[in-house]
Amino acid sequence: MSAPQPLAVDPVRNEREIARFWSSVVRGPGADDCWVWVGAIGDDGYGRFWIKRDGRQRAVRPHRYALVLANGGAPLPLDWVSLHLCDVPLCVRAGAHVVAGTPRENSRDMAEKGRVRGRWNRWLPGTGRDRAERSRAVRAAVRDGWDGQRFRDALHGAGDHPALF
Ligand SMILES: [Zn+2]
Repeated sequence: MSAPQPLAVDPVRNEREIARFWSSVVRGPGADDCWVWVGAIGDDGYGRFWIKRDGRQRAVRPHRYALVLANGGAPLPLDWVSLHLCDVPLCVRAGAHVVAGTPRENSRDMAEKGRVRGRWNRWLPGTGRDRAERSRAVRAAVRDGWDGQRFRDALHGAGDHPALF
């Protein structure tokens, strides 16, 4: 076993790979909308993007790929973790919705978010299986083109939330 290699993307050499990446992303039209990965989804509810490095196939999480792209293709430090500020695991809108930092920075963000946006956490299932189910629903909602209402219903698990009064 070799140590995991940090992901790098060469804007010239990997041009076709980058085009393939964006062809699996549906961008919401709004300034605050998510950009949703509509390619493969793993059992953990996160996307899977297959790339080839050094002659080997390798699956990466699309939001991490997007973070590297936003970094000009240069690798991020291996110990950095990524965080979805929008709570949508399939979102690849790096910078605005997906950020990366040291684990310390991110745990602080999570604590803040838990206080400020606790309402959202209700829809953040604790298990990978639930998250995968939700991610597949979200993907199905936007795969044929952005539909904000279908997207929100899928995200919140239509029929799953308590009756309004
Ligand atoms: Zn998002």
